[in-house]
Amino acid sequence: MKKKCSFILLFTFMLCIITYPTKAVETTLSNLYVVQTGDTLPSIAKRYNITTHDLKIANGLQSDSLIKGQKLRVPVTYEVLPRDTLQEIALAHHSTVQIIKETNNLTSHNLYPGQILTIKPKKMTMEGQHILMNKEEFKDWLFNQQIPREIHLIQQHHTWKPSYKNFHGNNHFQLLNSMQNHHMKTMGWDNIAQNITTFPDGKVAVSRPLNIAPEGSIGPKANKHGIAIENIGNFDIGHDVMTKEQEETIVYITALLCLKFGLTPSLDTITYHHWWHYKTKDRVLDDANNNDVKSCPGTSFFGGNSTDSAKKYFYPLVIEKMEELQVLDK
Ligand SMILES: [Zn+2]
Repeated sequence: MKKKCSFILLFTFMLCIITYPTKAVETTLSNLYVVQTGDTLPSIAKRYNITTHDLKIANGLQSDSLIKGQKLRVPVTYEVLPRDTLQEIALAHHSTVQIIKETNNLTSHNLYPGQILTIKPKKMTMEGQHILMNKEEFKDWLFNQQIPREIHLIQQHHTWKPSYKNFHGNNHFQLLNSMQNHHMKTMGWDNIAQNITTFPDGKVAVSRPLNIAPEGSIGPKANKHGIAIENIGNFDIGHDVMTKEQEETIVYITALLCLKFGLTPSLDTITYHHWWHYKTKDRVLDDANNNDVKSCPGTSFFGGNSTDSAKKYFYPLVIEKMEELQVLDK
C-alpha cells in the first residue's frame, strides 16, 4: 500500500512537471499572478511583499508598464506535504533550493509536513533591457507575455559580424551592447535592430521588446508585423559551422514563436533576409541578382538560404518541434 501511494505521488508529480510549461501552471501552480486592469508594478510588489526591482528581475521585465493578462511570477506561501523535497518544491515554483533556504532561514534540507515556507521566484539574468536565457527559460518567459502587436512574420538573420571568433563563452552582454551601440550610433536606429539574438552556446537573448517592430536593412515591409532573430555567427559557406546547441535553440524558439502567435511554418511566416530586395525592400524570394540581396542568414544556414532549402531543411524541423512541444503541453 505504501509503495502504491508513493508511486501515485511520484506519478502525479511527474505529470505536474510534464504539463508544467504553459497551461498547467494556471491551475496547478499558483505562483503566477495574472495582471488585471488598474494594476501597477508597485501595487503588485506591495501586495506580495517584494521590491519592484526584484519583481522585475524575477520576471524579465524590460520596463515598468504592464499589460492586462500578462503573467507574473510572485512569492507564495507553501505548506509542505509528506515526502516533499526542497528540490521538487523549487522546481514546481520556478525557484531554487538556495533561495528557499535563505528566505526561510533553513539550515538543512529537512522538511516536515505542515511546515509553512515562503517561496520566491528565481531571478533572471538581465543587463539593461537585455534578458539572457536558456531556451527553456525563454519558453516560460514568452508564454507569460501579452503581445498586443500583430505578429505574423519571423525573420531569420545571421550577424555575419560579430561571428564565432568574437564569442568567448561569457561575453553575451558585451556583444549585445556593442550591436546596440552600432545600430543606434552608426545606423541611427531607435534601438538594437533585432528582438531576439541566439548564441553559439545555445543561449537566447531578448533585447528590443517584442512589442516593438524590428528595424534594419530587411526593410519596413518585413518589419511591420515581424519579429527579428539575429543568430550570432557567419553562416556563409566556408565560415562558421553552426554548433548543435545553437541549431537546437533556433529551431526551438522559432517553434515557440509559431505556437505563441498561431503561425504555420511556410514562406509567408518564416522568412530569410536573403529573400528581400536590398533597395526596394520588396520580397523577391529566389528571384534576385546577387547584388540585390544579402546572403543573410548565410549560404549554409540549415542547408542553404534559398526557399527550397528552407522548405526542405528548416521548416520540417520547426514543425516537428512544434508537435513535440504541443504533446508535452497536453
Ligand atoms: Zn539579415
